[in-house]
Amino acid sequence: MLRVSNLKVDVIKNNPRDVLVKKLGIKDNDLISYKIHKKSIDSRNKSQVFYVYELDIELKNEDKYLKSKKVDIRLVEPLEYNYKYEVKSNEKIVVVGSGPAGLFCAYLLALNGLKPLVIERGYDIDKRNEVVNTFFETNVLDCRSNVCFGEGGAGTYSDGKLNTGVKDKEGRIPFILKTFYECGADEDITYEAHPHIGTDVLQGVVKNLRNKIIALGGSFMFESTLTDIVLNNDKVEKIIVNDMKEIKCSKVVLAVGHSARDTISKLYNKGLLMKPKGYAVGLRVIHNQEMINESQYGKYYKYLANASYKLTYTASNKRGVYTFCMCPGGYVVNSSSSKGYMLCNGMSNHDRNSGYSNSAVIVTINPKDYGDTVKGAIEYQEMLEQRAFLIAKGYIPIQRYKDYKENVLSTEFGNVKPEFKGGYVFTNLNEILPREINNSIVEGIENFGTKIKGFNNDDTILAGVESRTSSPVRILRDETLESNFKGLYPCGEGAGFAGGITSAAIDGLKVAESIIKELSNN
Ligand SMILES: Cc1cc2nc3c(=O)[nH]c(=O)nc-3n(C[C@H](O)[C@H](O)[C@H](O)COP(=O)(O)OP(=O)(O)OC[C@H]3O[C@@H](n4cnc5c(N)ncnc54)[C@H](O)[C@@H]3O)c2cc1C
Repeated sequence: MLRVSNLKVDVIKNNPRDVLVKKLGIKDNDLISYKIHKKSIDSRNKSQVFYVYELDIELKNEDKYLKSKKVDIRLVEPLEYNYKYEVKSNEKIVVVGSGPAGLFCAYLLALNGLKPLVIERGYDIDKRNEVVNTFFETNVLDCRSNVCFGEGGAGTYSDGKLNTGVKDKEGRIPFILKTFYECGADEDITYEAHPHIGTDVLQGVVKNLRNKIIALGGSFMFESTLTDIVLNNDKVEKIIVNDMKEIKCSKVVLAVGHSARDTISKLYNKGLLMKPKGYAVGLRVIHNQEMINESQYGKYYKYLANASYKLTYTASNKRGVYTFCMCPGGYVVNSSSSKGYMLCNGMSNHDRNSGYSNSAVIVTINPKDYGDTVKGAIEYQEMLEQRAFLIAKGYIPIQRYKDYKENVLSTEFGNVKPEFKGGYVFTNLNEILPREINNSIVEGIENFGTKIKGFNNDDTILAGVESRTSSPVRILRDETLESNFKGLYPCGEGAGFAGGITSAAIDGLKVAESIIKELSNN
């Protein structure tokens, strides 16, 4: 197969095929097939913004075209994810959690003839949708199932951004993207440089993935919380579900996400080895999307999808300040999962059409901030969420940026008047985070205002608290990805090995590969 790279295409005409044919001088009928491999936007020069395409093509007389100096063209081997092994085993494997880590782990196990049982503390997606929408309207939280817990995991009510910028010589990422596409996501996620699915589409995608796993012999139990693991000589013998039901099993994949602080703390107290890790905390920042578009794309913004950004800064106290999980055309969402704790995050529909952008502005914290212990790492996160809950009584605490800088209570919106998923209350967000973190956020936002005009406008809205950017702990695993409890495989974000949908799905595949390899050797 031939790959043409760096093909610059006008954003208004957006005709990559015509540009390819013209630049390469392709004769009639020589172009056998043509597929987009990658599409990105080059907006470094705002007066000349381009799409940049990578195209996979098949040509007659390819030797002739390979000599072209007018385009970057080369022969490539397609990257195939090799996931099929000869496995003959009746071993009972339980996957705990149906987030991206658990679902992709179960899917790969099922593709290899194993019949995983997925247990999930929350509701299936239809019932989950009902309670989540009720929560947005009434602020009455269902601790069993919410924005963090339930079928599809924490990413279901998200922007569905798929970060594909990690090393992947095994081809796991194309496999994940293709699977999402087969389950109902738009085909463009397979080639966009910054793919995103959107929460409205994701809800159907996770259901279709569940049905694929069931069709391959897997099964699901919802409203089923792992409450204990019974060990025999440090080896998994059975699990306890909802404090009552026993399930005998020899392998358990622990893909519970990092909101499952109850499960993680319980297993820590039981002797599961883990260590604290650095993470980042901060606030969500909301702007008018058009302002961001204009700043990122100049006059071309009208022809392009809503723009995003990624900004970084080192504060005077040497802490890193950066934007994270940017949601163009999205909403700030109340992401509470337990009573008395408040946190927010961002989500968008597929069309990203709210008119507002939001992203987290977060500041790194390190083990020194919380005493370098597992308990301290979790308690620090809990403390911030409790403060956020108290100042806004469970609603999303928000503030105008000018008032935040001046440390005074906000009382009304200026010209940024976003819609929220969940109720909101004007507060003084300085009361949530330590002063050093607040100061770092202000320094960061002022600096980002030099990169994106208007980022630090007085009327910019802030919301709190962004506390679950990644897990505060990492569970220790050996080279087969097993923990010190033999047969227990910590997996995904809750175990500290992922920080988003794609990386959680990758980790799910890695754990499944390890189990499959072990069983195929027996
Ligand atoms: C609102 C929001 C927006 C986000 N936006 C994005 C985004 O756009 N892009 C991105 O890459 N990432 C995003 N993230 C982060 C992303 O969702 C997570 O990184 C990812 O879902 C982690 O996957 P996981 O499978 O490891 O864990 P999770 O998705 O957290 O899944 C864990 C599952 O385990 C279940 N569970 C927990 N404890 C138990 C138990 N004891 N027994 C049984 N089941 C249990 C939970 O109910 C949950 O369904 C967002 C997160 C949130 C909350």
